[in-house]
Amino acid sequence: MDKSQQTAIVTGGGSGIGKAIAESFMKAGIHTVILGRDLHKLKTMQDRWGGLCTTLECDLTRLDTLPAVVARIEALRGRIDILVNNAGINMKKDFTEVTDTEFQGILLTNVTAVFALSREVVKVMLKHGAGAILNISSMASQYGIPKVTAYTASKAAIEGMTRSMAIDLSPLGIRVNCIAPGFIRTDMSAKALDQDAERKQKVLSRTPMGNLGEPSDIGEAALFLCSEGARYITGVVLPVDGGNSVGF
Ligand code: NDP
Repeated sequence: MDKSQQTAIVTGGGSGIGKAIAESFMKAGIHTVILGRDLHKLKTMQDRWGGLCTTLECDLTRLDTLPAVVARIEALRGRIDILVNNAGINMKKDFTEVTDTEFQGILLTNVTAVFALSREVVKVMLKHGAGAILNISSMASQYGIPKVTAYTASKAAIEGMTRSMAIDLSPLGIRVNCIAPGFIRTDMSAKALDQDAERKQKVLSRTPMGNLGEPSDIGEAALFLCSEGARYITGVVLPVDGGNSVGF
């Protein structure tokens, strides 16, 4: 199918990894709908990418609004081919200080919203019997990382969801994969690491490639996993982490 007729949705596509994923799709000629809360970021992307880009204000935690958001995208574009569930939040706090509300808030954004948005998008994909969904987890799903219990729980959940979704949706023509990024140079990671030089050194020393990743490293991998070239790949969790998960 002509790429210019394809529609991708990228949540949190106004910054960091999501922005790089959206840009890799748009560079490939795929019309990309960016969902986010920050109007300034959305406007910047809209101004830069013009007609290849649609931006919609959307707080993913407002689950009851998601069917209308998806209906609007379908009305605007006629079809949805790709969904990237990239948006995510983290919070670093001593274990005993984390409230139930904070814990649930992270799971709401990082897990429940991924399920709720995917369900609505799948209903549209079913109309043309094809689609690709990409979830973004983290190497934190496999490694204990201090003070981020809710985040690691949420990222392990995403990987489990990916496998079950892949099985459920394969017969319907929809592939579901996941990328587990290592430390990527974005606001989320750079801020945390800049405040902790010792930790940064530790991270780099256990990364065989010896450097942090760039958002575009995830963008390139995302483009491949959502492309026709990956048509026989579903249910995988692909680490993009400079070898961090290999162990040594
Ligand atoms: P950023 O903090 O730079 O970006 C997060 C994005 O999520 C923002 O664009 C934000 O949009 C969006 N977002 C958060 N909450 C909501 C919400 N309720 N509704 C809509 N959008 C929301 O993070 P990164 O780019 O670093 O991270 C992107 C993904 O990659 C996350 O899932 C993260 O867990 C994962 N990851 C990142 C790693 C890293 O090293 N950077 C490592 C491993 C995984 P807005 O500003 O408009 O609210």
